[in-house]
Amino acid sequence: MERKELLYEGKAKQVFRTDDPGIYWIRYKDDATAFDGKKRGSIEAKGRYNNQISAILFRFLETKGIETHMVELLGDREMLVRALDIIPVEVIVRNVVAGSLAKRLGLEEGTTLDRPVLEFCYKSDELGDPMINEYHIAAMDWASEAEMASIKKQALQINGLLVAYFRDRDMTLVDFKLEFGRLEGRVILGDEISPDTCRFWDAKTGEKLDKDRFRRDLGKIEEAYREVYRRLKESGEQQ
Ligand code: UDP
Repeated sequence: MERKELLYEGKAKQVFRTDDPGIYWIRYKDDATAFDGKKRGSIEAKGRYNNQISAILFRFLETKGIETHMVELLGDREMLVRALDIIPVEVIVRNVVAGSLAKRLGLEEGTTLDRPVLEFCYKSDELGDPMINEYHIAAMDWASEAEMASIKKQALQINGLLVAYFRDRDMTLVDFKLEFGRLEGRVILGDEISPDTCRFWDAKTGEKLDKDRFRRDLGKIEEAYREVYRRLKESGEQQ
């Protein structure tokens, strides 16, 4: 497979064309941004950890019957993925109150939710990813009703699988963001699942092992990403 020209560069990843129009080449960067790009920085080796953590999680989900865009891990910070027609809706799944939910509803961070909460945001950097609901999605025709049914079902299934997976590795999966895209009439999981897009807390100490260390200037950022990778990698193929 040959890497061709850069198609798109986002905050944390670059997407290149390949000689196969159905396959893109993704490169994970060390750049970090938060608060709609107002806070910027670089986290040593982040791209490598996010690429490999995402690959482990995509592979795990595939073994459980969830289709993902990943084709092949290429090396340290690169993977091949199937080209999806990305649905411009970010899907947030929450198990424990944190971040914007704590602020918006005046709840205490760390409160366990009685059942998972799904939220949707419109994927737009200029607008700061505003929260939307299914009426907006239907009215703007961002996704059909059938696609939304599939997205909700998959998001909750993925949550169930990942909550158990992280619990087995002494971490609480607090919340995370997913993106989906269309491929041959199906809706499949795209983007990444990493400490950039999830909140993981150490199950015993509550220590934050994710991008909140960067957002909140908690220090030991690279160490946290490395620790998540270590816990996932060490448990190897056992699922
Ligand atoms: N998230 C993300 N990208 C976004 C917004 C949120 O990956 O553009 C993730 C974030 O890392 C967290 C979850 O979605 O795991 C919920 O984020 P929240 O709404 O609390 O927003 P934040 O506090 O991160 O601004």
